[in-house]
Amino acid sequence: MTLIRRIPRQHLVAGIVLLALILYPVINPWQPYPQGVLLIAFLLAIQASGWNIISGYAGYISLGHSMFLGLGSYTAAIIALHTGVNPLWVAPLGGVTAVVVAVVFGSVVLRTRGHAFVIITIALLLSAQIVATNWDGLTNGSDGITLELPFWSSDFQNIPFYYAFLILLVLAVLFSAWIARTKFGTGLIAIREDEGKAASIGVNTTVFKIMAYGASSFFIGVAGGVYAYYQTFLNPVGSFAILGSVLIVLSALVGGRGTLYGPVLGAFIVSLINEAATVYGGSTQSRVLILGLILVAVVLFLPAGLLPTFIGMYRRRHPVETEYTDQEGALKSAAIVRDRLPSSPVSSAPLLEVRGVTKRFGGLTAVDNADLTVERGSITALIGPNGSGKTTLFNLITGNMQADSGTITFNGKRIEKLAPWTRGHLGLGRTFQVTRLFKDMTVLQNVVAPLPDGRLRTMLADAVSGHEAARARELLGIVGLARFADQKAGDLSYGQQKLVELAQVLMLSPELILLDEPAGGVNPSLLGRLTGVIRELNQAGVSFLVVEHNIPLVLDLCDPVHVFARGSCIASGPPGQIREDPVVLDAYLGDDWRPQDAHA
Ligand code: ADP
Ligand code: MG
Repeated sequence: MTLIRRIPRQHLVAGIVLLALILYPVINPWQPYPQGVLLIAFLLAIQASGWNIISGYAGYISLGHSMFLGLGSYTAAIIALHTGVNPLWVAPLGGVTAVVVAVVFGSVVLRTRGHAFVIITIALLLSAQIVATNWDGLTNGSDGITLELPFWSSDFQNIPFYYAFLILLVLAVLFSAWIARTKFGTGLIAIREDEGKAASIGVNTTVFKIMAYGASSFFIGVAGGVYAYYQTFLNPVGSFAILGSVLIVLSALVGGRGTLYGPVLGAFIVSLINEAATVYGGSTQSRVLILGLILVAVVLFLPAGLLPTFIGMYRRRHPVETEYTDQEGALKSAAIVRDRLPSSPVSSAPLLEVRGVTKRFGGLTAVDNADLTVERGSITALIGPNGSGKTTLFNLITGNMQADSGTITFNGKRIEKLAPWTRGHLGLGRTFQVTRLFKDMTVLQNVVAPLPDGRLRTMLADAVSGHEAARARELLGIVGLARFADQKAGDLSYGQQKLVELAQVLMLSPELILLDEPAGGVNPSLLGRLTGVIRELNQAGVSFLVVEHNIPLVLDLCDPVHVFARGSCIASGPPGQIREDPVVLDAYLGDDWRPQDAHA
């Protein structure tokens, strides 16, 4: 009994439904019609569940996902036609074709960000139709391919197909659940929420998106192979129909995209409505009209989809008491950061060297032939008036923007041409002026999301309960926020979010952390913790480059201090010297700042 209580309710309900579906043809074997309706629902659910990986998790909407069903069907059918092998046995090859096509085209399209992908997915679907129509020798053109009838006795009706689709559905859902548990899955959600930020914490966004597109297509391709045999006939127009893609998207939206069971639930609802509309509504037009109206209603009234709405209602009625294992005051444990720092040979060369870097925005030169050095083990400050180019310089160092000219050397390696995630893997971490946490993720997921290297093993590590999650909890302990691990990051105060962002960066085991105005908007009590953490980490071997307007804090914490004005460095030196420098006083600190403030 206690075991059952420990299984999350969603999985329990899913298990009971699955059991009922397994038993249904056994209990009720002479019902070909409902079995036929259900197996089509399974097929749609397989597709919606796959679609959910690229479009729900990663947020890249595909409007042509039924293409993979067609590709799978054609693969199995063509092989069957030319070799005489039963299409059912070669259905997995349909999945392989789908993945190959997804990866090849994905690697072209998914290098870009944003809307290009949506358009291309439709274009791909239509091109597939055209190719299938015109490649007569292979596909029989618009005449289509006719396959032999099922080899089993007609007494079994479509029951074998029923189970084949049900098994594929279970596998597709398990696959999707596994992805959601890994750091790969967390990375996909990070991409959906803030792609630039994801790249800066070591997520190789290009590879992640291509892999997600490939993963989303596999079971659809396999199901396509089975579907070809079920239909016994396929042609280009039917196999690459846009309506199929619309049903997939509709299912995921109705059920709740980005959730595990939402797309499956949605697919059952949509295929039942689709079936009812076919039986009672008559023409295809009225079917499309009914489906269109549902889509409008869902977008207007249930933007998150049914499942998230239900779960939200349930949670509000039954709030969960979270037990806190308090790990506050864990500042001493900064040693765990030291353990993970690369034991690079102690070199006297600077950790970071920026030489002659320039960045223009149209006519404005935001960073102008700037030089900057950060010594190993230092907490270096970068101060300067608003608009002097400090944040832009950070963006150039971490790769969020490309410099027009100049060189950036980190740990003896030229990095100015490298992707942001590669710089992250080399040990360069940053926080943002306005925090960019993934607001819909929990605090813990935020801290687990970064990838310290590009290895497949790291990507596929368990993010929910494995050693990665354990380490994330330790890092939250360092910044004193372990008890908020399971809260939504967006619910924390601004200052707490800044600390979480610091813990997040620590997951990269960085050698250098760039902090962009860490104290901005942080209340005084958290400020003390923040400086404490910075000092502690610095003693553990982490170097810092800090942009900050709180001058007393800078003069107290940092050495040396560089002063930026109009895109380049105008003065550098220890805090004592900067405080008295007339050039600095004139350019930045102004009349309302007096040296004694530093002692306040
Ligand atoms: P700071 O961080 O020192 O306040 P920024 O680096 O944010 O300064 O900005 C330097 C200058 O570059 C400002 O004039 C700003 O308006 C401009 N700037 C910054 N980012 C962009 C951008 N993405 N596009 C155009 N102009 C920008
Ligand atoms: Mg700035």
